[in-house]
This record gives sequence, structure tokens and C-alpha cells, in this order.
Amino acid sequence: MSSKPIVIMGAGPAGLTAAWELVKEGRDVVVWEADPSYVGGISRTVHANGFRFDIGGHRFFSKSTEVNEVWREIMPDDFIDCPRLSRIYYGKKFFAYPLEAVDSFLKLGPFETLRILGSYARAKLAPIRPETTFAQWVTNRFGRRLFEMFFKSYTEKVWGISCDEISADWAAQRIKGLSLRGAVLSAFRGKKASPTAKTLIRNFFYPRLGPGQMWETATKKIMAKGGRVELDRRVQTVHWDETGVTHITGTNQLGEFFQQEGSQFISSIPLKELMLSLDPPPPPEVKAAANALRYRDFITVCLVVNRANVFPDTWIYIHDPTVKVGRVQNYKNWSAAMVPDPKFTSLGLEYFCFEGDGLWTATDHDLAELAIREAEQIGLVKRALVQDAFVVRMPKAYPIYDQDYQRHVETIRAWVCQFHNLQPVGRNGMHHYNNQDHSMMTAMLAAKNIQGADFDCWRVNTEAEYHEAGESKE
Ligand SMILES: Cc1cc2nc3c(=O)[nH]c(=O)nc-3n(C[C@H](O)[C@H](O)[C@H](O)COP(=O)(O)OP(=O)(O)OC[C@H]3O[C@@H](n4cnc5c(N)ncnc54)[C@H](O)[C@@H]3O)c2cc1C
Repeated sequence: MSSKPIVIMGAGPAGLTAAWELVKEGRDVVVWEADPSYVGGISRTVHANGFRFDIGGHRFFSKSTEVNEVWREIMPDDFIDCPRLSRIYYGKKFFAYPLEAVDSFLKLGPFETLRILGSYARAKLAPIRPETTFAQWVTNRFGRRLFEMFFKSYTEKVWGISCDEISADWAAQRIKGLSLRGAVLSAFRGKKASPTAKTLIRNFFYPRLGPGQMWETATKKIMAKGGRVELDRRVQTVHWDETGVTHITGTNQLGEFFQQEGSQFISSIPLKELMLSLDPPPPPEVKAAANALRYRDFITVCLVVNRANVFPDTWIYIHDPTVKVGRVQNYKNWSAAMVPDPKFTSLGLEYFCFEGDGLWTATDHDLAELAIREAEQIGLVKRALVQDAFVVRMPKAYPIYDQDYQRHVETIRAWVCQFHNLQPVGRNGMHHYNNQDHSMMTAMLAAKNIQGADFDCWRVNTEAEYHEAGESKE
């Protein structure tokens, strides 16, 4: 075994899971995290004046026994069982989500309902072929009218590109298992829509103090076992030669320079950033593929409302195209401990954007004004009740699945596999739309590889059951 440590880039769920799995085996681990104060990456919990905010609302749900075991091992007793209530706001009305036949019929009226059924029948009789885009995938299964009402505007808010440019893969990954026929039949049988659809789970676990609690606890436990988790260390260059990756260098916010040698390297930093930080640089086609990867960024405007109860939902999807906000979280309905005093409610108005665009560069004051105006317009809260606002910007929240992303990821994957001691893991780390569990699973396999196993982390699939430890290369 080398005397040099194992170096992990990024202290999100993937990086910290890899570190945890390795320190448990007695391995020497160093984690570099760019953020000066938070661990947990996108799954962090931000603190402000005693209020705790989650970036997006993180459900802890996994089909993987191994992932569930890691969550329980790190935090045995501070999980709560959280029931989900979410609705869709569209056309000045709140619809049950998942859509329920009777509720939707009453709110849409007979004319609109007939229009939906007519367009569904048309889609079934003459489906669009070939089916390559998100718009085509959804239209073929739900009809054009439902696509326009309940998929198009929200999806375009999330991705910032037309549904004609989004790959059908994303729809297949996220809304597989849901069908109009199934939903209507279940409604008539008095049941809710199929819980096999990934977006529809009704109960999930949640750390009492938000998802960041899990990753803050993990950090403490890693450090208690001798691992080092170093904040304010941004990886800038990953150095390699014919022997593999040798060391990383980077800076902190003061511009001070740091260097870390290692025997093995696990990277959960965005794949694009990893490829562009390599010294010497990768071949031109790999660099071009990295440059072509795109991300969607995310702003949360947290409004502190001077009222004990505002609405019963955990979150509301805002499909209505007349406002920019995409979703509204009610953190207190996830866990009462997210507010310091039960007299208050904290709401998170979520905006999807691109780093550098008008929303991203707006001042915090202007974003708070926008959020208050839109919350009022939707009818959620009156301006006079808002007593404070905080803005959190999260770059690279979503890896974009455009028509070409798979080709680019494949070009990078094929080249990066030559390194015996560099493993990309996680969500942006592999440019894969992973939840925490799959991000963690890739990291668990990477840690096992360092211990002598031979798993292909790229084959961790968001649909695979992976009850054991993923698929071996054989
Ligand atoms: C809105 C939203 C809602 C979500 N909801 C859920 C949910 O309900 N349930 C669920 O399980 N998952 C959910 N997810 C997904 C979840 O957030 C991710 O799967 C998970 O955080 C990915 O973990 P990761 O470690 O791969 O990456 P990240 O969380 O992105 O962590 C990467 C870390 O690397 C650091 N880093 C980046 N560049 C550098 C650098 N150059 N040097 C050093 N450090 C660097 C970052 O600061 C970050 O801390 C959601 C995501 C979003 C955006």
C-alpha cells in the first residue's frame, strides 16, 4: 500500500461517501472541498438567522439496501418519516399531484377534459416516430394537450431550453412507470397513481435538521477516524504523467496555493471542470467534448413569513408560465426543526437559470422583490407578512441532457478509463442526473475498486435495482 493518501475532490454526498467507506477500512483519506463553509454539495443545508434551508428539498429514498445502510450507519437516529403533499399550480388553480381524475375534471371542466382525451386518443392512434425528444416522448404517452399543460412550461423552466431539444432519455429516466391510462384506472378504483414512478413516492425519510445534517455528521465521523476534510480548497489543476495522476493543486479564497499528492484520486467535481483542469491537457476531441457539457443553475429565495401556517404542502410545482418561479418549498412541512420558532414559516421560491443570465446576476434585493411579488400573485402570502429574505445561488445544480450529451460523456469516459488511479463519481462528476443514492453508489463502488474490486462505476444506472454492489465488469 502506498504511503500517499487517497485524494477525494468534492465533499458532497459522493465524495463523503467514498471517504467514509475508505476510512472505515483504515485508509488515509484527504478530501478537498471548494466551499469555505459547507459540506454536502447540492445536498447541503444552508443556515441563516436560525432558519435552515434545503437546496431543492432532498428526499432520502433509495431502493438500495447498501445506500440505506450507509445513511443509517452515519446517522442512526435523527431521521424523520416525512409524508409528501405536493400540488401543481396552473391557470390560477391548484391541482392534486399526482394528478387525480376527479380533482382534475372538476378544475378543468368538461370542455378541456374532452380536449385532453381527444388529443390522447390521437397520440395513441398515430404516435410520433422516431421518438427522440422529451416533447415526443411525453406527447406519445399523454397526448399533446396534457403535454402542453402539465409538462411543457415546467420542464422548460427547469432546463431553460425547448422540450424539442431535451433528450427523451430524461423523460424515460424521470417519469417512467406513469401512464394516463394507469392514472385514470387507479383513480376510478379509488387509488393514487402508481408509486413505481420515481417522482411519485409518497413517504420518504428526511434528516430532522435537513439533508446537510447527514453530511455534516459524515464529516465529523470521517475526521474522528483520522480522515481529513479540508474546506476552502478549490482544485484547479490535476497533474498527471505516464504513471497516472500524481497530485492536485489549487487555492483558497485568499488566493493561497496548496498542493496534495496522492496514490489514488476520486473526483466528484463537475466532469467538465475535471477534464479542463488536467495538466497536461487531454486530446483535443476530449477537451471539445468537455467544453460541450452544459449545466443548469439554481437560485433559492428564502422568505421568512410571520405566520405559523401558510399552506399544507411540502412543495408546490409552479407550471404557470406567467411567473418565473418553478417550485415553492415549505421547509417547515418537511421538518418542524427547519424554523427556530414555530410562529414562523420559511418558504423557498426556486428559480432555474443559467450562471451569468439576468436572474443569476440580479441583486439579492431584486430577487427578493421578485419572489415576494410572485408569491403574492400566486396567492401564497401577503407582502406585509414577509419579514426577511435570503438568497442562495447554486451553480451547476443540473447536468443538462441535451441531444448530444451522451456522445460527449462517452468520448470522455473512453479516454479517462486509461487512468488506473482516477475515478470520476457522482452527479456532475459523471454528468449523470443522479439523486444522492446513485451518486453515493458510484462512490461506494469507486472505494471498493481501490480496495481491489473491479466495478465499472459508469454502469450504475438510475433504474437498476443494484441490490448488491452494482454490476461487475464481467
Ligand atoms: C433542486 C434539486 C433537488 C434535489 N432533490 C433530491 C432529492 O429529493 N433526493 C435526492 O436523493 N437527491 C436530490 N437531488 C440530487 C442531489 O442533490 C445530488 O444527487 C447530490 O448532491 C450529488 O452529490 P455529489 O457528491 O455527486 O455532487 P455535489 O452535491 O454537487 O457535490 C460536489 C461537491 O464538489 C465541490 N466542488 C466542485 N468543484 C470543486 C473543485 N474544483 N474543487 C473542490 N471541490 C469542488 C462542490 O462544492 C460540492 O460540494 C436534488 C438536486 C437538485 C438540484
